[in-house]
Amino acid sequence: MKKLLLLVSVILSSSCTTTPVSGNKAFLLTSAATENQQGDEAYKEILKKEKEVTGSAQSKMVEEIGRRIAAVANEPDFKWEFKTLQSDEPNAFCLPGGKVAVYTGIFKYAENEAGLATVMGHEIGHAIARHGGQRMTQQMIAAGASTAVAAAIGLSKLDDTKKTLAMAAFGAGVTYGVILPFSRSDETEADEIGLVLMSKAGYNPNEAVAFWDRFSKASGSAPPQFMSTHPNSENRREHLKALVPKVMNDYNSSARLGSGKNI
Ligand SMILES: [Zn+2]
Repeated sequence: MKKLLLLVSVILSSSCTTTPVSGNKAFLLTSAATENQQGDEAYKEILKKEKEVTGSAQSKMVEEIGRRIAAVANEPDFKWEFKTLQSDEPNAFCLPGGKVAVYTGIFKYAENEAGLATVMGHEIGHAIARHGGQRMTQQMIAAGASTAVAAAIGLSKLDDTKKTLAMAAFGAGVTYGVILPFSRSDETEADEIGLVLMSKAGYNPNEAVAFWDRFSKASGSAPPQFMSTHPNSENRREHLKALVPKVMNDYNSSARLGSGKNI
């Protein structure tokens, strides 16, 4: 009973927040500060295991696009980092707090800066919408009241298994071999936020539609992890296409880089 009361008070004191850009409501038991700290720790763990690429034209492009998106993302508490990791897997992620990684396997699909901005904008969209925190919140609730209370008080009180699960919930699941994908509505929201971000950063939003066309065509019947939570890529494409006119003003008042340089 005491635990239940504590849980209720935790839930009442946690807030229903409004997601920037999309305006959707999100219920969170975690604080942004905790999520960002966990994102930072998960990022360090991943970087220890992966081979980072530095000084290449591609890794410089990742940093350049990242800086442009960060400049329009309005996330003062994020400590942005943009790393390129050597891997054939066509993937990318952004952990809470702005820790971005792009795998070299995505370059051939991206083709140009705007294609890469589509991928990075989408991943950054997940972080801005705090989808990691939302997945963690769901896990806490699923894991039971006492864990939820402990986790809401401080993640440091969680044991290692639960910590790993919590980190996997941040979208680093592929690397950890524990896959807890974002939901389809998360993916749609990240697409929308990503489209706004890339347009404000100066990349032609029509290139997002072109990117998803290339990506779904090239991946054929076996979609890579990056898009596997979207069984229907046609819907995604049509949804993005319908949104393009809404972000044209953002693009027209930006630096208007078009599709940018080819990769
Ligand atoms: Zn996604």
